[in-house]
Amino acid sequence: MKHSGILIVVSGFSGAGKGTLMNRLIEEYDNYALSISATTRAPRPGEQDGREYFFLDKKEFEQRIEDGGFIEYACYLDNYYGTPKDYVKKQLEAGKNVVLEIEIQGAMKIKKQFPEALLLFVMPPDVAELERRLNGRGTETPEVVAKRLRRASEEAEGIEEYDYILINDDLETCVQKLNEIVGAAGSAPYRNEEFIENIRAELNVLAKGEK
Ligand code: ADP
Ligand code: 5GP
Repeated sequence: MKHSGILIVVSGFSGAGKGTLMNRLIEEYDNYALSISATTRAPRPGEQDGREYFFLDKKEFEQRIEDGGFIEYACYLDNYYGTPKDYVKKQLEAGKNVVLEIEIQGAMKIKKQFPEALLLFVMPPDVAELERRLNGRGTETPEVVAKRLRRASEEAEGIEEYDYILINDDLETCVQKLNEIVGAAGSAPYRNEEFIENIRAELNVLAKGEK
């Protein structure tokens, strides 16, 4: 795929603050597009269909899988989550940096399909704070919180697969850091081939004229 936008994957333990971070990122900078996933989990109070997620039932989700509608999908604690294909392609082609906030199995599928994707893993400053945030959010039962923390210990084994970790202690610092990392990734020579080639061509002309 030829494009100038960067495909960014953001993963992290439940409660680390990924959603909060994404909202601030979109508020603060206008060169990011956040992909909205589909899921079979029930909406939390305040969540709206088409804003946080596209909420589908299991049958609808499985039909979308069959139709090839997802770039990737995975099961996370008994529910399906998937990234719709169309939006991501369109935004990348329009030159936007597209952010996929997805869990680790999906992240590995993206890494395989798009080796140039930038993979970031959001971490809490410490585990006590993670528990505080997850409980403090008040959106899950104690049983689901416990399951999510157990899943976090499994996910922690895969962190080295990511390009960078992002410690979400102070939110504003973390948003800035994310934007800096993306900026640095955008400066890689292979993402700037046209610019480099133009300079080379001009230098060649200059060098020949001087002979
Ligand atoms: P995730 O999307 O990773 O599951 P959320 O974005 O829902 O996590 O954040 C979990 C809870 O932690 C929320 O109540 C949120 O307000 C809070 N939170 C997020 N980032 C920070 C931060 N930097 N400092 C303090 N609280 C935070
Ligand atoms: P939550 O239920 O807290 O909204 O999300 C649970 C987990 O699913 C989080 O780790 C979140 O990043 C992940 N997730 C959200 N959307 C997708 C998706 O489209 N694909 C995959 N693989 N994971 C997703």
